[in-house]
Amino acid sequence: MKSDSIAMMDLPGKIQNKQDTVCIFGTGDFGRSLGLCLLQSGYNVVYGSRDPKNCSLLPKGSKAMTHAAAAHEAHVIFVAVQREHYGFLNSLASDLEGKVLVDISNNVKRGLYPESNAEYLSRLIPGATVVKAFNTISAWALQSGGLDANRQVLICGDRADAKQLVVDIAQSLGFTALDRGSLRAAAELEDVPLQLFPLWRLPLYIAIGLSAFIFFYVLTRSVIYERVINGKDIAFRIMISLANKVFPIVSLVMLSLCYLPGALAGLLQLYYGTKYRRFPNWLDRWMLCRKQLGLVALAFGFLHVLYTLVIPIRYYVRYRINAYVITLVKDNKTYEFDNTAAWRYDSYYSMGILGFSLFLLLGITSLPSVSNSLNWREFRFVQSKLGYITLLLCTAHTFLYGWDRFLKPTSYQWWMPPAYMLSLVVPCVVLILKLILITPCVDRKVTRIRQGWERQSKNLANCRDTKTSHPLMA
Ligand code: NAP
Repeated sequence: MKSDSIAMMDLPGKIQNKQDTVCIFGTGDFGRSLGLCLLQSGYNVVYGSRDPKNCSLLPKGSKAMTHAAAAHEAHVIFVAVQREHYGFLNSLASDLEGKVLVDISNNVKRGLYPESNAEYLSRLIPGATVVKAFNTISAWALQSGGLDANRQVLICGDRADAKQLVVDIAQSLGFTALDRGSLRAAAELEDVPLQLFPLWRLPLYIAIGLSAFIFFYVLTRSVIYERVINGKDIAFRIMISLANKVFPIVSLVMLSLCYLPGALAGLLQLYYGTKYRRFPNWLDRWMLCRKQLGLVALAFGFLHVLYTLVIPIRYYVRYRINAYVITLVKDNKTYEFDNTAAWRYDSYYSMGILGFSLFLLLGITSLPSVSNSLNWREFRFVQSKLGYITLLLCTAHTFLYGWDRFLKPTSYQWWMPPAYMLSLVVPCVVLILKLILITPCVDRKVTRIRQGWERQSKNLANCRDTKTSHPLMA
């Protein structure tokens, strides 16, 4: 016995723990992909099918038989059948007694049934133990061996030993398993594949809305204005000049929107005098999608860099430079060196380059593979401290771009200020709020609150006063 267990311990990996034969009910897309994976990982696979004689597409090495016969071959049974067909399992209740049924099913939309598919299956076959798993993995991901897709299998169920069997199988197939609790979590797991970029939705809506607004704003100020007032057609500028105005503005505003909720949260904590009061829902949702906001902002920043790089080779720019030089030559004039302009342009480019480099660093550290290698303090240092420096540099870059243009009346076509001025509003608000929050007296208070200190509120004080002055308390 002892030598047996030593021999078992010498066996590699999970093979020693795995159930030899796994049964799959259903020979559809998922059943076939799962069967192939299981066979490749060394399991025996038997299929339970309504028509076992006509299962020609099954992976080589597997066997097809009736549901009852297949159920007798294995302890773990994957139910790879749509929920609406679960009725056939009723007649197999005695064959499924004591088995572990793995429910992999999904629904086509939310709230289709009053209970989760897994709980329904458990109610249908009370003698079996139901584990919800693999529903978040697609048949395609199984076929690609989990190398090219999500490798995480979410698992839930009421019995730990049954869940462990499924965890072992998932790990043998090259997936990582994440226990999400009891079978009551099944409804949540069934909702996962129905979600469509939940955290990306708000940032994308903001990006689309902002881009559309800024585009029409700059279109009106330049192209439409020139057409109406001077009768000139400069619509060709839409392709690069206008696009290259929209991208940096959206990028800067969205970058500042990443930091605005943090500053608002700090102010709210100061106002409440505690960190234990919930933030409003809109602020919670906003805070949750800060990473996505930042990544969309980075994408726009990247577009701005690419569009800026093509400026020297643009026909319009080359034409303007050549025309200017020819005019100077014709008029026998010289092009005086302007020291202030040299400083301004160099500083403007420098701020832009530094800001974008730090922006890239923020994007890279938000990747799970990188952020996992940082501790909380390092992550906060990059995302908060370097993040604010990035915002500061990008804001300075925009200020230097505008320089003294805001003083010239010609900049206000149709009383509309230049678009760069609009882009500075949110970043300036964020930077001013941050400045307030880092002043020593405010910072000390916020830090204390975040460490758990609470200001005695009037209500709390009143409540305590009432309590202590109550006759029975006296
Ligand atoms: P499918 O291709 O339609 O296959 C379902 C199988 O169920 C059929 O091949 C059939 O096998 C069996 N079946 C059909 N009607 C039946 C009935 N009235 N009674 C008993 N068995 C019946 O579906 P699938 O894509 O493999 O999906 C199977 C389950 O996996 C679904 O619940 C789905 O939500 C879930 N899932 C699928 C994927 C995916 O990528 N496809 C991903 C995650 C989860 P027999 O003819 O051999 O009986």
